[in-house]
Amino acid sequence: MEQTLYIYNSITREKEKFSSIIPGHVGMYVCGPTVYSDVHLGNVRTFLTFDMVRRYLEFIGYKVRYVRNITDVGHLTGDSDDGEDKIAKKAKLENLEPMEVVQKYTNGFHDVMTIFNIGRPSIEPTATGHIIEQIEMIQDIISNGFAYVSNGSVYFDVRKFSEKFNYGKLSGRVIDDLLSNTRDLDGQDEKRDGLDFALWKKAEPQHLMRWNSPWGEGFPGWHIECSVMSTKYLGKEFDIHGGGMDLKFPHHECEIAQNVGATGHEPVRYWMHGNMLTVNGRKMAKSEGNGFTPEELITGNHKLLERGYTPMTVRFFFLMGHYASTLDFSNEALQAAERGYKRMTAAIQTLKQVTPSEKSDFDASKLREACYAAMNDDFNTPVLISELFEAVRVINSAKEGSIKLSAEQIEALTQIFQDFFYAVMGMKDEEGSGTSELTESLMQMIIGMRADAKANKDYATSDKLRDALAKIHVQIKDTKEGATWSYEG
Ligand code: AMP
Ligand code: ZN
Repeated sequence: MEQTLYIYNSITREKEKFSSIIPGHVGMYVCGPTVYSDVHLGNVRTFLTFDMVRRYLEFIGYKVRYVRNITDVGHLTGDSDDGEDKIAKKAKLENLEPMEVVQKYTNGFHDVMTIFNIGRPSIEPTATGHIIEQIEMIQDIISNGFAYVSNGSVYFDVRKFSEKFNYGKLSGRVIDDLLSNTRDLDGQDEKRDGLDFALWKKAEPQHLMRWNSPWGEGFPGWHIECSVMSTKYLGKEFDIHGGGMDLKFPHHECEIAQNVGATGHEPVRYWMHGNMLTVNGRKMAKSEGNGFTPEELITGNHKLLERGYTPMTVRFFFLMGHYASTLDFSNEALQAAERGYKRMTAAIQTLKQVTPSEKSDFDASKLREACYAAMNDDFNTPVLISELFEAVRVINSAKEGSIKLSAEQIEALTQIFQDFFYAVMGMKDEEGSGTSELTESLMQMIIGMRADAKANKDYATSDKLRDALAKIHVQIKDTKEGATWSYEG
């Protein structure tokens, strides 16, 4: 690979030079959705982050095997070992088969991914499709002495594990403290320690989703599916594991413990965590009541929304922030992103109309290097976007005639947008974005009317036209070669 990429690795807490296990190939696993309800915009942020990561890896020449699972069993309402299965609960509520719930929300999830131009993974395995493999891994963990059977359930023995390995390495939790704090369990509990987590849960008679196992009828714990499906498709050790920051603990910490418990191997080279979309500083979540669906976002039909926003406006908004920083939702921020997106797509169209000069005042190769540098620095999309805005300024100046661009430089600039705006950032043109041929002819018509008015000394009309255009952020400039226009968003 010609590019030297640095990735912030959550487990070492350092930006590290990326090198893949197999040269030219990357194995990447990302925790997918639990398909019991519509995804909200926070979920979209995380999946969009890893779509951008995948796009850049592919862009710089890696062949990426991208595995993103569907959680369709085992994720309980308590997000730990308590409560009902989220999917079974919904099935009862909606009077559906659990698998109908799974299909319904998987379809919905796919639709949303398509709307935001988030690519499909190479493999999309489901937890229910890998029950046998999960049982096998649990058996390995038991035979290695890191799990125990209790009343038809199987629990991971955190204390035993941490005698030999480091539980808490990823999340930075000091497990000794936690262990001593949770020592007093009442005798009723099946667990030896409060920190132990379920690998397999016995199904109570009323439980809907159940499978046979060596320990009786039951269902897998939430964490084991990711340990199993990542290593099944990517190998015992693989390159990148991603997910939202909120999954670091317990989910990812438990994944590491399970893999190490089963094979003695740390599974992941680079852990990447996308940060949260917040609303007034609080994580967007279904339970907070501050989450809206992409559909509500587009229609504007939600109390938090002043109006609707297009999917590409939202995509641009997300990429204007660095994936590892929190991003706060607001109407102002979305409107700024909308103006930025329109300004950029308008400039891409304008570039087609710039008349090439013999000489060039601008060298696009430096800009191209700067775009790579931004992305190589832990996928710094906000810096990439500011570099692309530099190109927008150059294009608008070239259109006004204040700087000159050669045909070669016009071509190089076009390629930069093709590569970084469309391929890497995954942006698309939307109807109304950029400048259509119709817009261009209408603008030429208005410019002509204004020139006629001026020629007839009808300044009232020419000023009226200019002011009306200014109201919709279109600036008219008079140059030697005649009037030009630009959309300032
Ligand atoms: P879930 O379906 O709840 O398991 O979540 C699916 C993914 O969305 C996980 O990777 C979460 O970390 C992520 N996620 C949930 N809420 C947010 C949020 N507010 N911002 C960003 N990502 C989120
Ligand atoms: Zn997972």
